[in-house]
Amino acid sequence: MTETDSTFAQRLLRWFDVHGRHDLPWQIERSPYTTWVSEVMLQQTQVSAVIPYFRQFIDRFPDVHALATADEDAVFAHWSGLGYYSRARNLHAAAKLCVELHDGHIPNDPDALLALPGIGRSTAGAILAQAYGLPYPILDGNVRRVLARYLGIEEWPGSAAAQRRLWDFAQNRVAADRTADYTQAQMDLGSMICKPRKPRCAECPLQSDCQALAMERTNRIPVAKPRRERPTRHAVAAILMHEDRVLLIKRPPAGIWSSLWTLPQADTTESLLDSLPRVAAQLAAPVALEPIEHAFSHYDLRLQPLHFGTIELSPQISDRNDVRWLGYAELNDVGLPAPIRTLLAHTILRKPQ
Ligand code: SF4
Repeated sequence: MTETDSTFAQRLLRWFDVHGRHDLPWQIERSPYTTWVSEVMLQQTQVSAVIPYFRQFIDRFPDVHALATADEDAVFAHWSGLGYYSRARNLHAAAKLCVELHDGHIPNDPDALLALPGIGRSTAGAILAQAYGLPYPILDGNVRRVLARYLGIEEWPGSAAAQRRLWDFAQNRVAADRTADYTQAQMDLGSMICKPRKPRCAECPLQSDCQALAMERTNRIPVAKPRRERPTRHAVAAILMHEDRVLLIKRPPAGIWSSLWTLPQADTTESLLDSLPRVAAQLAAPVALEPIEHAFSHYDLRLQPLHFGTIELSPQISDRNDVRWLGYAELNDVGLPAPIRTLLAHTILRKPQ
């Protein structure tokens, strides 16, 4: 190991002591539970956006038991706006498992953590290092970018070979003490200095031996994921009103927008009408509203909302517990996909005067 290698963690910690973040809400009241919730929220969302959601989530679900016993709709409602609802679903399921298998504790064992839904190697490492002071590495998106540049990796860092190299490096440089600060230092350096565009190398504690900087390739590394053609799928959604409420259905627990409440949806208008046999006879010719464009991980959805106007309430429909008539005042009570929430709040439902 060279002198430079031996001081990698020290350089990061020295920089962190002066420039890093020290007053994040999950740092101030650090516990395995708050660390876990914050890490899951941070998986796809930036720190500044996470802070208000974290506070409101912890207020409502202050510990594992509160989360494990909560109603799923309440969990989704408190996640609403953060997106990527599978994170909330996994968090809820994992809390139940912690109660069932670990006496309500977040495990401090990597294998037990990795067995919980929604916890991958990097999130497990962050919990072990930050909540339990154990020497485990992280490799979230920010850290991956820093290390890919530092090591000068000229292939997509998500490839198997690059992942091995990055994890090996991260594992070998883990600080023996101050593991929580070292973990936060890496995240902060990625988000504050080694930014995706225009990294601030002149302020970076790694500048002396950063390979990307030496090769003048900081704008080329990390290498982008090889592109694949993204298909566009088309679907239609029904807007059915009764008085000042709109009909929503709860989607099944698997698939897109799983377990969220949304408009009745189908691939074609014909199959949409087939899915609404009890009210089909009452429906007027629909008015097509502005289509919704939404990007999922593997495809783009173009959803055409069709406004069928007002119908008489059908007892056969309203008796089902996966069907609900929702008014404006209840928009925040349930988990809704972001574009559907926007459509309902701004176009369909009227705010009570
Ligand atoms: S020197 Fe520049 S490119 Fe290298 S790790 Fe630091 S900020 Fe990133």
